[in-house]
Amino acid sequence: MAKDNMNAKEAQSPVKGQFPNQDEIVCKDCAFRDKTKVKIGNKEIVVGVTKAFCEKYKAPPESNGKPHEILFGNGICEHYEKEE
Ligand code: SF4
Repeated sequence: MAKDNMNAKEAQSPVKGQFPNQDEIVCKDCAFRDKTKVKIGNKEIVVGVTKAFCEKYKAPPESNGKPHEILFGNGICEHYEKEE
């Protein structure tokens, strides 16, 4: 019964979760990316590439972070430089 109620609420909600994709985001091999990694068991997850800030798009008050299109739309970045 509770599960049915939850599914009904989810179906009615116009709000959808959006998450950057670490395998597709342009930042994944950029020299300016946040290089934070998290190790879970034997797996290393590159959490930094999907963060909202990097060396070019800094936190406020310097900037508001990466543009939405870069984070969520796999957009290109004018500052991108492939890491050597
Ligand atoms: S400079 Fe652009 S491509 Fe590089 S990490 Fe920042 S937002 Fe991503």
